[in-house]
Amino acid sequence: MIKNRPPWLRKKAPNQESLNAMEKMLKSLSLHTVCEGADCPNIGECFENQTATFMILGKTCTRNCRFCAVSKESPEKLDEKEPQNVAIAVEKLGLKHVVITSVTRDDLLDGGAGHFAKTINEIKNLNKGITIEVLIPDFAGNLQALKEIIKAKPEIINHNLETVPSLYQQVRPQADYQRSLSILKAVKDIDGSIVIKTGIMLGLGEKEEEIIRVMEDLIKINCDILTLGQYLQPTKEHIEVVEYIPPEKFDDYKERALNMGFKYVASGPFVRSSYNAVEALNVMK
Ligand code: SF4
Ligand code: SF4
Repeated sequence: MIKNRPPWLRKKAPNQESLNAMEKMLKSLSLHTVCEGADCPNIGECFENQTATFMILGKTCTRNCRFCAVSKESPEKLDEKEPQNVAIAVEKLGLKHVVITSVTRDDLLDGGAGHFAKTINEIKNLNKGITIEVLIPDFAGNLQALKEIIKAKPEIINHNLETVPSLYQQVRPQADYQRSLSILKAVKDIDGSIVIKTGIMLGLGEKEEEIIRVMEDLIKINCDILTLGQYLQPTKEHIEVVEYIPPEKFDDYKERALNMGFKYVASGPFVRSSYNAVEALNVMK
């Protein structure tokens, strides 16, 4: 196990005042964020910039990915007010672009797709001109569920592959690489105007050639945006970091991905799929 983080992975402590203000607002609307749920290292910076990634469908997940800090107790009853409350929070924060994600709800017939669609609609109704990015689960491959989300017309649909196929069993045992890839492909096949995006964590023991092969698979299905970031172990109970990838290697992957044909690539130790998400859309305009 690697104990000490290298110097490029040290961040200054978050500003407590902006954390408190955001937490207070979220609590007043009974909302959750993946920023808090997944112990994101960028929380100080993002909350200070008045941005957050909302996590809908509750705060407990039915899957058990070994890298993820989100709680895995029994699933909660859906909060019918959540779609409207997310829209209100977006308005309060004055966001021009918002990222909505969720836990995976394998216990629900539609995997929560209807609730996602309602949330998109509520945000659009209350926040004219906003752009919306949804970071969705795989819906166990349910294309009907996916179509409900596509019908609500978010500008970006993101589904993270998270890692290379050889590590799926170890890292995200209830997921399937080909199924995740086919979810992204289906979005483009059904509505080519929607931007598709995915992300991979590095440092879990994947080999360089495996990362390149994943990029090739993504280019074949016309994936537009790629994010690459360093995996950080949230607690001792989670899967260990195998390697800290230096910033120059992230730059190298970025260059290679852009040369392969991705329209936008964010690659760096602290990159997370929702980090500075609006930038990709601005570059692609
Ligand atoms: Fe939240 Fe994304 Fe920022 Fe992390 S990078 S704090 S998940 S908005
Ligand atoms: Fe975390 Fe998503 Fe895996 Fe659930 S499905 S454990 S929220 S990464």
